[in-house]
Amino acid sequence: MPHRKGCPAVSRNRKKPPWFCGKKRLAQFILKQVSQESTKKSQQEYARKSVQSLTSVPMLVKVVRGKKFFTSNLLIETGDGMIAISLQSGSNGNCIYVEADGVRLLFDAGISGIQAEKRLAAHGRDIRQVDALIISHDHADHIRCAGVFQRKYGIPVYVTPKTLSAAESACSLGCFTNVLHFRSGGTLRFGDVSVETIPTPHDGEDGAAFVVNAAGKRLGILTDLGHVFEGLGRVVASLDAVFIESNYDPEMLTNGPYPPFLKRRIKGPGGHISNREAAELLRAAGDGLKWACLAHLSEQNNSPDIALRTHREVLSEAFPLHIASRYAASGLFSV
Ligand SMILES: [Zn+2]
Ligand SMILES: [Zn+2]
Repeated sequence: MPHRKGCPAVSRNRKKPPWFCGKKRLAQFILKQVSQESTKKSQQEYARKSVQSLTSVPMLVKVVRGKKFFTSNLLIETGDGMIAISLQSGSNGNCIYVEADGVRLLFDAGISGIQAEKRLAAHGRDIRQVDALIISHDHADHIRCAGVFQRKYGIPVYVTPKTLSAAESACSLGCFTNVLHFRSGGTLRFGDVSVETIPTPHDGEDGAAFVVNAAGKRLGILTDLGHVFEGLGRVVASLDAVFIESNYDPEMLTNGPYPPFLKRRIKGPGGHISNREAAELLRAAGDGLKWACLAHLSEQNNSPDIALRTHREVLSEAFPLHIASRYAASGLFSV
């Protein structure tokens, strides 16, 4: 149901991405996309990795007069499976892209519209093609740019009424013309794709975690969990793949610079879960889980190395683990 009258209508401007053929031009394009986001050295490294990531996607190759061309829409083709990209993860901003069965979803809008647009474009995706933005809770690192995503790109925003009202009183979201409300605990449907919403005890107003069901697979998006609440283990065990919060190392938190009230909040029942708690959930999940991407790592109270080391102490060496960066998009994950 449309919401918030009084804003100018926004038409959905579904332009095709400015795409092209050939790896050299692809690298040049990606370099341009990330030019304002990192140093020159890391730009080159990022572009190189992105090209590798893109070339691992099944590509359509057109043959014209004996020459091979990568077609302009080849990176949009994903077959029947589900794919996911973390565009950024952490207290500085969260945004995850999921695509399956022709449905394109964004989870959370804690990064700027420009960042999301560029990082999706680097993976051959057009933000204007996104069908829905689904918000987990009212903290700014998840919702601060929801208004921009809606107004600039015409993306419908799915949010609970309590989350929207709490966020509006805490930060300036601007006006919306297309907001749809859901109840935490319900299921959202987009064609053949469904999104289960799971209430969390995190200290947001009305938080939710998500499970995306598509093509017979289940992907969890489980961050800002509060604590290891009842039923969370069963959810993780039901998944094929998961983005899971692995927020802090208890020792770093205890010895770190945060004030005592913040330390208590993070490890308290409405805060975040630790590396070891996340690892134990993954270990208990069993063989159905094919990979995990550790998400929402604290900058002060964790590090990718420490998170990985803790998980490896609990999980087998062979289990595929990834880390969602606080500063850049991930590769393209296949579920
Ligand atoms: Zn958060
Ligand atoms: Zn939060």
